[in-house]
Amino acid sequence: MKVLDLRCGSGHGFEGWFGSEDDFQSQLGAGRIECPFCGQTDIHKRLSAPRLNLGAVAPAEPPAAAPAKSSPDTAMTTDAVRQQLQLAWLAAARQVIAQTDDVGTRFADEARRMHYGETPERAIRGQATRQQAEALAEEGIPVAPLLLPAAFEGPLQ
Ligand SMILES: [Zn+2]
Repeated sequence: MKVLDLRCGSGHGFEGWFGSEDDFQSQLGAGRIECPFCGQTDIHKRLSAPRLNLGAVAPAEPPAAAPAKSSPDTAMTTDAVRQQLQLAWLAAARQVIAQTDDVGTRFADEARRMHYGETPERAIRGQATRQQAEALAEEGIPVAPLLLPAAFEGPLQ
């Protein structure tokens, strides 16, 4: 004996008792299964929840959309990223300023004196001409160029 959950075309749910699945199919095919509520023979088997493989029908995670260059949202995002980078750079620059000694135009001389042990090693910053920087590099004195915006001069000292 097989008990099936059935539903008619109008949505009435009821149980049908059959000798077997084949018995159900043959009776259904012959139109001998009627809805007990409305009498129609448009009957289909209702899948009970445990038989539904919900995992299989769950939508897959949508692939990450490729950024569309024309999209305003993407442009805003790019601007935000640029702003973040700029803020990070400014923070790093501020840190350099806070941790270095401004020797101004004496930078090349100071760097050279430190390199040759004439003065204690310390972090310095200052201005050097391209020729001075190249000369320092040739002498093996490490110099990192740091381009600071004009706003960093003066008031921040
Ligand atoms: Zn019905």
